[in-house]
Amino acid sequence: MAIALVTGASRGIGRAAALRLALDGNAVALNYRENAEAAGQAVEEILRAGGRAIAVQGDIGDPACAPALAAEIDARLGPVTILVNNAGILHRGDLADFDFTRMEPMRRVNVDGLVHVTRAIVPGMQAAGFGRIINLTSIAAFGTAMPGTTFYAATKAAVIALTKRFALDLGPHGITVNAVAPGFIRTDMAAAGRTPEQVAQSLETMAAKAMVRRIGTPEDIAHAISFLAGERAGFVTGQVLVVDGGRTDYLAP
Ligand code: NAP
Repeated sequence: MAIALVTGASRGIGRAAALRLALDGNAVALNYRENAEAAGQAVEEILRAGGRAIAVQGDIGDPACAPALAAEIDARLGPVTILVNNAGILHRGDLADFDFTRMEPMRRVNVDGLVHVTRAIVPGMQAAGFGRIINLTSIAAFGTAMPGTTFYAATKAAVIALTKRFALDLGPHGITVNAVAPGFIRTDMAAAGRTPEQVAQSLETMAAKAMVRRIGTPEDIAHAISFLAGERAGFVTGQVLVVDGGRTDYLAP
């Protein structure tokens, strides 16, 4: 049984990934920042299904968090060999209207947090001679996404650069590093900072502009993560797997 850590696993994509990895037969540590009740419910769901899971609190935007997180999981489950760097936040705004004081907190979680957690977990993977790291980027990083996500996109572009560099560094140790780039997925993040009318409009527009004519679910992303986390994905590294129902490539009228 491998041991997986999913950051930001109390809700949305992280929660679905944790449940999927548990169903795949892994013991799972579900990290959360403040929503202990939701994280606890996800753990309960895994335990009820016969799996093994724990919830671990920690703000990955705090550099002191990552070593403590790794040590706690090591003591309670064992060394992590599957890491899903999922935790992320979105502050909306474009060139003219973005409140730039929000850049640093966003970068601290989306970029620095990913680096700190990876650095804390990698030594255990190196000792095991095996590891799977999956980073959550976004199709926003390619510059084709909806208005209001310019600076978030910059943090997600950094995730792609780090994914490829870490893959180069860690490949000789039996560790693969890949990214998943979701399209529009129905989660709290997709609705944050917007009116219900704006959300409804986005759901309709995004579905119409996807080849498969629907928006994504957290489970759609969890399945891609599950593939990249598996033994069989050992020759796939440094890649960005786009999971967007064909939206990026669809030149909609
Ligand atoms: P979400 O619904 O907003 O959930 C975010 C999760 O991250 C929550 O579990 C939250 O924990 C946790 N989190 C936030 N800040 C954290 C921190 N500092 N330390 C630890 N945990 C933290 O987000 P989502 O939509 O599932 O997105 C997951 C990932 O996919 C993100 O990296 C996002 O950028 C990416 N993504 C999402 C979409 C989309 O359409 N939804 C598209 C492309 C990419 P608490 O509940 O405790 O606050």
